[in-house]
Amino acid sequence: MTSREDCLALDAHDPLAAFRTRFALPEGVVYLDGNSLGARPKVAAARAQSVIGEEWGNGLIRSWNDADWIGLPAKVGDKLGQLIGAAPGEVVACDSTSVNLFKLLSAAFVLRPGRRVLLTDRDNFPTDNYVAEGVAAFFDGKVEIRVLPAEEILAAIDQDVAVVSLTQVNYRTGRIYDMAKISAAATAMGALSLWDLSHSAGAIPVDLTGAGADLAVGCGYKYLNGGPGAPAYVFVPKRHHQAICQPISGWMGHAAPFEFSGDFRPAPGIGRMLSGTPPVIALALLECGLDIIIEAGMDALRVKSMALSDLFISLITQQCDGHGLELISPQDANLRGSQVSYSYENGFGAMQALIARGVIGDFRQPNVMRFGFAPLYVTHIDLWDAVQALRAVLVGAEWKKFPMRAGVVT
Ligand SMILES: *Cc1c(COP(=O)(O)O)cnc(C)c1O
Repeated sequence: MTSREDCLALDAHDPLAAFRTRFALPEGVVYLDGNSLGARPKVAAARAQSVIGEEWGNGLIRSWNDADWIGLPAKVGDKLGQLIGAAPGEVVACDSTSVNLFKLLSAAFVLRPGRRVLLTDRDNFPTDNYVAEGVAAFFDGKVEIRVLPAEEILAAIDQDVAVVSLTQVNYRTGRIYDMAKISAAATAMGALSLWDLSHSAGAIPVDLTGAGADLAVGCGYKYLNGGPGAPAYVFVPKRHHQAICQPISGWMGHAAPFEFSGDFRPAPGIGRMLSGTPPVIALALLECGLDIIIEAGMDALRVKSMALSDLFISLITQQCDGHGLELISPQDANLRGSQVSYSYENGFGAMQALIARGVIGDFRQPNVMRFGFAPLYVTHIDLWDAVQALRAVLVGAEWKKFPMRAGVVT
């Protein structure tokens, strides 16, 4: 049995405890949704003030050079690279994950001419597979999407496959793919591997280089705490820089944008993955989130993340047994990202009731209650309080007060 005092003791010995004070979190809220929208680093407000007030207000257009606005996609990209095992010059921050997926999936078919299959997971995040459909429509019959259950992906990588497109940590269950194994199998068959790191970066240590991954994308507003709609990113290792080209060949991806020349000539490095003018304010805020994670270190974050998710599962078993919650995340923390999910018949209403009690998680169709553990700011006592609240919701059937509604962000 784990007691409230045990949780307090765990917090007292937590080497990352001080990082919580770096985040602006409202009083009385237990925030278990950093996997969907990370909390705000306090410093982000001051940074926004300086970019808007000083750099924009006083510097005006001079700030593209003087404040190096133009260098932000690469600078922020290199910081991201430190978290995902990429070398400097292999990551740029830009656009949304969906747009970056379109660029990379399209590029993959150009890099692998003659191959027609895009292999993906049936349970991949919807936007990933929607974009795959869009790419197939654009290639007009030259691309075939092969959608399989996760456990059948490895065996399905054959010589027709141009690209294996997977999300490393499943958004619904938190299950982690073996990135090194699948990337190696793709390489052995002459196919490319493309990894979506939206639920990995900032949640688990990622080593794209060590895994031999070919391409990657991910988003900035989840565990990276970049703010709502933060820029996403693209990873292309140096070995592909020469050959890769992408369809949104805008002026920011040009070798010399300010030559204003008539023809597109791609930038020699990762810069060719850029398209239009970078969102300066949003990039500056994302940088604030990245700096804190780099300072804390992914290895320390992973240790705490695994401890938190194990604690949560044991507290649920202890307090909520017999109420019909079913764990759909892996039991083994090594196979799990930084989240834990339960299926529960009245999951939508139960999550709404929980939120009404100040414990914020989220709900995913059809019946999944999802709890994310951002180790920078979630404490052990938070989890004790969350499970007590959940128990009260279940015992009091509080979910009845929240009938299912359509069309809201859950
Ligand atoms: C959150 C998430 C996205 C988000 O895509 P946007 O284009 O930023 O809306 C994409 N893929 C995965 C796997 C995600 O978890």
